Amino acid sequence: MDRPLSEAAFERACKCIPGGVSSPVRSFGAVGGSPLFVDRAAGPHLFDLDGNRYVDFLSCWGAMILGHAHPAICDAIAAAAAKGTGYGLSTEPEAELAELIKDAFPSVEMLRLVNSGTEAVMSAVRLARAHTGRDKVIVFEGCYHGHSDGLLASAGSGLATFSIPRSAGVPDSVVSDTLIATYNDPGSVGALMAEFEGDVAAVLVEPVAGNMGVVMPQPGFLEGLRALCDEHGALLILDEVITGFRVARGGAQERFGVRADLTTLGKIIGGGLPVGAFGGRRDIMEHLAPLGDAYQAGTLSGNPVVASTGATALKVLRDAPPYDRMDRLADELVEGVRRAAESRGVPLQVNRCGSMFTCFFADAPVVDYATAKASDTKRYAEFFRGMLESGILLAPSQFEAGFISAAHTEADIAAFIAAAAKALS
Ligand code: PLP
Repeated sequence: MDRPLSEAAFERACKCIPGGVSSPVRSFGAVGGSPLFVDRAAGPHLFDLDGNRYVDFLSCWGAMILGHAHPAICDAIAAAAAKGTGYGLSTEPEAELAELIKDAFPSVEMLRLVNSGTEAVMSAVRLARAHTGRDKVIVFEGCYHGHSDGLLASAGSGLATFSIPRSAGVPDSVVSDTLIATYNDPGSVGALMAEFEGDVAAVLVEPVAGNMGVVMPQPGFLEGLRALCDEHGALLILDEVITGFRVARGGAQERFGVRADLTTLGKIIGGGLPVGAFGGRRDIMEHLAPLGDAYQAGTLSGNPVVASTGATALKVLRDAPPYDRMDRLADELVEGVRRAAESRGVPLQVNRCGSMFTCFFADAPVVDYATAKASDTKRYAEFFRGMLESGILLAPSQFEAGFISAAHTEADIAAFIAAAAKALS
């Protein structure tokens, strides 16, 4: 597939934007080749500047659960924008979106809207510290919670992709209260709780990891975290920026039956526009200014175009839930790829939760960051490039998730499996 216009656009961008991209993983640095520049998208398909068509399994990193340019979403954006795109004052769509989120997440009694997942998690951590009067936060190696300073230690996603253990520019003092535990190992959390007894404000976790590639919580892991938090007086923050409205309408907390004190959301709840939200128990949320003394704010937070669009997306998901169908398509995809790998003697582990999945080139099951890192990332890069040449777009890094949307069809899944059979040969 030729992409001269994408290449020219990348060259132009590199002259004025570091690395030519507005977010590092878009550079295709881990998989090689020059990055796609997108012209437009519709349903499950993306079209690059050169007119090449791709079946999109990146789905805007999980945000586009309804597929691209869904008519209800386009109408909502147009109708809201026609009334003005922002006032910096309160509007009704904010409460509508908040109510729709509360309806899906019983643990969320109150919430606040922000502009990104990063902001949501950063604010939830501040609130947890304000509520408990403690400073330390336990996170898990390989999870990613956005790019705020204190959470950029041993994180997954882009840092894992570029093998950066911790970002430059983050002082030791800022991460000194970030404690790192091992995913799927409640014992590692218990040990930190004991060592820092009375100092741990919160355990922050992706309830299904998506940023070391998809890694399922093993039975007992989330329950173990809940029990440890209760025992030691810490809050459990479930970062559902990917999993919220994805692995079930009520996120991983619905799917796995675990109670969160605070929940962070993003991606899907904006219907494809920039958004984040954090919410949870009323007694915790009431620490926020103007009710309490935990400060958090945003000029464009709760923007009316974003809130109307997000509410529209959540109403579509409530009224015509696509989850069973997406699950079935994802199951077909995974089974097809496994069969193709098996018949070619390729060691492949495909992890899947609902409509999110990752293909790891590894002999052994991938259950945490160490096993994810042990997979063959060169082989993933070859696989990615092979798939792209067949018109299938995956995440341009091993340490990310692929997503099926409500717009994907049986034909798209068949195209994925056929392309995989070729790429694995
Ligand atoms: N938390 C999780 C689990 C994420 O996957 C991400 C981004 O992918 C974030 C937080 C940060 O969200 P954003 O990129 O919107 O800042």
